[in-house]
Amino acid sequence: MASLETMFDVRGKSVIVTGGASGIGRAYAEIMLQQGARVCIFDIDAEGLDRTVAELAGDGGEIWGRQVDVGDRPAMAAAFDAVAERHGRIDTVFANAGIDPGPGFMTPEGERNPDGAIENIPDSQWDRGIEINLTSVYTTVKNAVRHMKPQGGGQIIVTSSIASQINESIVGTSYMPAKAAVNHFVRHMAMELGAFGIRVNAILPGPFITNIAGGRLRNKADRAAFESQSLIGRIGDVEDIKGLALLLASPAGAFFTGSLIVIDGGSLTRMT
Ligand code: NAD
Repeated sequence: MASLETMFDVRGKSVIVTGGASGIGRAYAEIMLQQGARVCIFDIDAEGLDRTVAELAGDGGEIWGRQVDVGDRPAMAAAFDAVAERHGRIDTVFANAGIDPGPGFMTPEGERNPDGAIENIPDSQWDRGIEINLTSVYTTVKNAVRHMKPQGGGQIIVTSSIASQINESIVGTSYMPAKAAVNHFVRHMAMELGAFGIRVNAILPGPFITNIAGGRLRNKADRAAFESQSLIGRIGDVEDIKGLALLLASPAGAFFTGSLIVIDGGSLTRMT
């Protein structure tokens, strides 16, 4: 019978977290580090990377950062190779970097927002949203698999969103279709990669207080609106996501693959 310690043992594991300088990605990095993993965070924000590495260093395993735009395919391939060279292998990859591509067609106060209306969205805004929220997940998984297949397995955990399952009017238009496509991609990859010992799962957070969308959820009105959707009267703190991340990355999560796991204080249950 496995002990609690062996079930959640990730000591010495090689972990990559994209978008790890802030918010949910930082929480993934922190819990893996605290449990003794070797963690490399990828982020476009050089200052945020330095700050996060400095703040988390000394907390268990090893942490370092690599500045990379997840939309830059050659840079991503080079970053994965650098981690494999330094750690000797890649066990777990969190494909987490994401953006709110722009304003939705409604404001949080319930007014129409012309900047988010379909006819006014700059095509570049749509393209960047799809590039970062969808295509970068493909790029991340592809590079992960390139290393995981020869070593005989690994875990890939993708941050999707409950926005993949609902109609959301205050988030930029490309966000929902990108996250919905991510869910299908995760399940498809789980089918393709299970035979190679690679598990692929998605975490679907509800509203969490992070910097995304300019930290909009720190604004009182927005926060109250989202809190009223929660079944437990509050929105998520990044601490809430650590247990699920560790579960999926550890031996305790060995039977999860192709799963889309909602973590949202019940908001989706209320809305659907
Ligand atoms: P965040 O803004 O705090 O963190 C996102 C991180 O990704 C930042 O450090 C940012 O610099 C980085 N990033 C952005 N674009 C990048 C790029 N091109 N290349 C590399 N790094 C890049 O936001 P968060 O809420 O922690 O978001 C993490 C993930 O969680 C996203 O995929 C988001 O869609 C998803 N999510 C968030 C919420 C929420 O309410 N916060 C809800 C559902 C899903």
